[in-house]
Amino acid sequence: MKIFRTVKEYKKYFNTIQKNKIIGFVPTMGALHNGHLSLLKKSLQKCDITGISIFVNPLQFAPDDDIEQYPRQEKKDIKICEELDVDFAFIPKINEMYPEKILTMIVVSNLQDNLCGEKRKGHFNGVTTVVAKLFNIIQPNFAFFGLKDFQQYIIIKKMVKDLIFPIEIIGCEIIRERNGLAMSSRNRYLTKEEREIAPNINKALRFGIELIKEQKLTAGKIIENIRTKYLKEIKIDYLNIYDQDTLIPLEKDKIPSGKIAIAGAFFIGKARLIDNMRISL
Ligand code: AMP
Repeated sequence: MKIFRTVKEYKKYFNTIQKNKIIGFVPTMGALHNGHLSLLKKSLQKCDITGISIFVNPLQFAPDDDIEQYPRQEKKDIKICEELDVDFAFIPKINEMYPEKILTMIVVSNLQDNLCGEKRKGHFNGVTTVVAKLFNIIQPNFAFFGLKDFQQYIIIKKMVKDLIFPIEIIGCEIIRERNGLAMSSRNRYLTKEEREIAPNINKALRFGIELIKEQKLTAGKIIENIRTKYLKEIKIDYLNIYDQDTLIPLEKDKIPSGKIAIAGAFFIGKARLIDNMRISL
């Protein structure tokens, strides 16, 4: 596997790639787990050349976020990618991505009014800006994003559409532990006891989907029910039922229908975990 630390190194390689080769790209922050691997495998199946980026992007962390503690395991990540037969890894230092104060930001409005966008102000501006930079550097044909970060996926798709990036965004289903817990680099913050509580998040969402399918309860009642049944021990940052396209919460007194997602963020110990499930009725 080729490893590039600078834009210049990557560009030199890019210029040697035949024009008819299809490039697949998986942007990550490293600390790779099976969720990331599923994205890489999709790309390896679909594309001639698969690349990953590993970059913990300071622009998307607030000052009180966990950027310092964020898990880093570059050697292990490289080994994992090599074993998968990934073609290249772009692993820049912060100075390479931000050699000077950045004055240009990509802002996808409206879609960040709710969910994590509402709770982590400015987070998605950091995400879209770094993803746009990575797209301009890597110039992939396809880019693979996990549906675990559903809001991120919707926002990136909109950015690509609005700005006519010549890239197709592929959403990939959430990979979970056997107990239902969505895989996340942040799961390693959990203690043994917290690991036992964490699967309640997915149990709660699954119960929510069952209630939605029954078509008897309003959105407000569904959320109330799942909170009391599964989430008493868990601190909820947000939890609601949203329209999948607009990411606007459904009205509390309506029975949910259409293309919807039940999504939430939860604090367990030091970890803030997100999860969602989607359904079309
Ligand atoms: P991250 O390193 O957390 O920025 O994630 C990089 C990519 O992997 C994003 O597109 C995430 O949505 C995706 N991802 C993270 N966890 C999972 C998971 N459990 N299942 C599927 N995709 C995931």
